[in-house]
Order: sequence, then structure tokens, then C-alpha cells
Amino acid sequence: MRQYSMEFDSVVTELTFRCNAACPACGRHSFANNLNDDKYHFKFDKFKIVFTEKFLSKLKILTICGNYGDFILCEDALEIIKYIRTFLPKESIIVIITNGSARNKIFWNTLGNILFNQDKVIFSIDGLEDTHSIYRINTRFDRVIENAQEVIKTNSPLVIWKMILFSHNQHQLNDCISLATKLNFDFFYKVFTTRNYNVPVEKHPFNNPEADLDLECKAAAVKDCYISPEGLVFRCCWTAHCYYKFNKKQDFKFPKNFDEDYNAFKVPIETILNYSYWDKLDNFLVKCPTKAFKVCKDSCNKKMITSLSDRINLKTLKSEKYAYKNVKLSNF
Ligand code: SF4
Ligand code: SF4
Repeated sequence: MRQYSMEFDSVVTELTFRCNAACPACGRHSFANNLNDDKYHFKFDKFKIVFTEKFLSKLKILTICGNYGDFILCEDALEIIKYIRTFLPKESIIVIITNGSARNKIFWNTLGNILFNQDKVIFSIDGLEDTHSIYRINTRFDRVIENAQEVIKTNSPLVIWKMILFSHNQHQLNDCISLATKLNFDFFYKVFTTRNYNVPVEKHPFNNPEADLDLECKAAAVKDCYISPEGLVFRCCWTAHCYYKFNKKQDFKFPKNFDEDYNAFKVPIETILNYSYWDKLDNFLVKCPTKAFKVCKDSCNKKMITSLSDRINLKTLKSEKYAYKNVKLSNF
């Protein structure tokens, strides 16, 4: 039997469920409770209970990415990231994904200076001045660019432009790449979303919902788990969404006493990650793919490209494409 304490070497979390944006296909719109409740919000003191120094010291990648919120709405964000950077091994990586459209220049400059060269700040920029805010409602293109430039100026972490392709922006792909080059972004990548919003005319050849089922637990493949700001530990952000959304909880079956036994405010995180549950779940998904939960079939067909596939790319490509500054700008 595998010992999972050594198998989890990366974590996805989010500092808050609050967000300044209102992207139409965001999971926020089907959240069952009050997203602004303090229980869905990490303060520095709370963060240190779940993410102990010892736990951080074992991680290779810590990703701060929103299922429901953006780290810029967490007032302790810089203090928390400084703490993470202090106790994460020197060679480990912090990845931050953000809409980038809040906080002042000092915030972004300070962030850049806290982070190391191999860390990544990924800005979600879905087009140019006239298209970006069609999906990123309540965000401003000029502000995001200005904030990204503050981080670029520090010459420290890798600064990445991530563009989701929609029917309303796909014609601007090359112009976005040119602008990213001109502004000294380190990397550009495009995302083929599976969300049903202004779907681009040209789909990714692998992005085919009708494809035969060939299941791979992508979270297990990248040794990930997702920890919500209320301390609950999930295999991935998709299963978290099954837990938090107002309907379709039957899309995934949670273990007994999940609320108590999988809450890292109540049980030490190492104990939770050592449960045999993770092993059993992985075995079940691999051995009985046709009986797998709906969310797994929908999200983890190997033939589908999803946001977690992007994370696999981020991880596996890191040594060649992400380890150094001034990597060649490209889109894949
Ligand atoms: S920026 Fe992220 S968390 Fe905020 S509304 Fe958009 S998708 Fe949701
Ligand atoms: S959706 Fe299911 S198969 Fe995919 S990463 Fe999550 S638990 Fe694994």
C-alpha cells in the first residue's frame, strides 16, 4: 500500500472565496452559501494552522488559484506569501493565478520582490482593451497590464500571460502574443476552456466531450490536493466544487465524516494526507473507470484538455521552459 504522505508534493489552495470579478462561467455562480463568509477567508493566523512550517517544507509546488476567489481580495496576502516563501524549500515553486485587476502598484512590486526567480505569477488576460472585460467582467485591461508590469519590473518571478480563447477574442491571439513580447512577459499560453461560454469556432482537437473514456486522475498524476480556506482537504478543485455547489452533490461521493475528519483546522494536515482513502480513491478510479463519479468522467478523460492539464504542463515543463528567466515566448 502506498504511503501518501510522500505522494502529495503539491497543493492547490486559495486564500479567499472573495473576488472582484464576475466571470460568467465561474463556479461562484453556483455556490450554495455566502462566498463572503469569514469562514471562507484565510487570515494569516488561520493560514499558519493548516500550512505549518513542517508541511510547507515538504512541498515542491504550492499553487494559489481561484475556484471561487482571487488572492488579491485577501488582506493578508503578502504576509502569507512571504511566510510561504520562507518555509517552502528554496527550489520549490509558488504559482499564483490572478485576474490582476485590484491592489496598487506597491502591492504588485512587493509581491515580485518576495517571490523567487522560479516562481510564477500568471495573469488571466483574455484579449485586448476591447475584449478582455467581456468575460473578465468588472476587471480592467489597462489595470491588469499596469499591475503585471510592476511584477515584471522586479525581474524576479516569471510573469505569464494566460489567455482563454473565446469566439469574441480568438482573432486577437497573435496581437496578444505580440503585446506580451513587447511588454516583456516571460511566457504566454492559451487555454481551450471546456466551459460553455462563447465557445471558439476552432476547438482544440483533443477537446472532445464525445471521446471514449480513458480516465486518469489528474490530481493523483501531479500529486496534488486542493485545500479550501475553511480547511477542508479535497483530492482536487473539481471535487471541491461538487461539495460547495448548490446542486449535484451526487456527482462525487465523499467519505463519512468528511466535514470533521478532512478538516485541517481539526485534524493535522499530515494525518489527513496519510488516510488510506486517497489510495483507495485512486485505485477505484484506475480500476473501475466506467463506474467512476460523474465529475471524474467529465473532468479527467485523458483525451480532454482541462485546466488541470495545464497544471501538468506547468509541472512537467518546468525544468526546460520555466526554470529560468527570459524563456522563449511561445504558445502551446
Ligand atoms: S477571476 Fe477567477 S474567481 Fe474571480 S470571477 Fe473570474 S474565474 Fe471566478
Ligand atoms: S475529478 Fe476525479 S479523477 Fe479528476 S482529479 Fe478529481 S478526483 Fe481525480
